[in-house]
Amino acid sequence: MADVDVVTVVPNLLLLRFEFGQAYLWREGRSATLIDTGIAGSGSAIVALLTELDAELERIVLTHGHEDHVGSAAELRAATGAPVLAHGLDAPIVRGERPRPDPVLLDWERPLFDSIVPTVPPPPPCPVDQELAEGDVLDFAGGARVLSIPGHTDGSIAVYLSRSRILFTGDTIANVNEVMLGTFNTDRVRAIESFHRLAELDTEVVCFGHGEPIIEHAGAELRATAAQLTE
Ligand SMILES: [Zn+2]
Repeated sequence: MADVDVVTVVPNLLLLRFEFGQAYLWREGRSATLIDTGIAGSGSAIVALLTELDAELERIVLTHGHEDHVGSAAELRAATGAPVLAHGLDAPIVRGERPRPDPVLLDWERPLFDSIVPTVPPPPPCPVDQELAEGDVLDFAGGARVLSIPGHTDGSIAVYLSRSRILFTGDTIANVNEVMLGTFNTDRVRAIESFHRLAELDTEVVCFGHGEPIIEHAGAELRATAAQLTE
């Protein structure tokens, strides 16, 4: 069974770290929402964690269609019966109906991409039970708002918990040594526009697809990086 490291971000919110990639688990009472699923093979560790927490998985929200976020969605859906939610533009990729579009790599990203991609197992296709769009509000955390933030992929989303001022950025923003535009984007210009949009939100806590969450005054850090972004 794949290992998972579990870290408390803030009360109600856990960071799940896998060998590669990460996911987040939001809990209210016994009800749980999973945001991303890690690479394929992480499902049994997540199911074991849910059992340990006496939590019931209500939904699986995918920030985008990449292998390290979608990987265990099919396994978890089968094991828990929880519906899978993804943006309409990435849903066909999650379902395995369309290939993942290649990113447009910068020169420095190429060797990184070539070293990582062979280590990430291909995810089994997964049904998408609900296709998401800009402005949808999901029934957890007092109303979790879906933002369409294309660029990393066409169907990338962020999830914003306005009541607790927590933002999940997916891979549009990363925090690997520093807050940065995510890597391996299909459209860098649009990804930068999306970064600016996220930076303008009133956030205290930001949870990234890769790297440590920021748990205080995160909005100011996003804005500082956004101000320096160039195409
Ligand atoms: Zn990605």
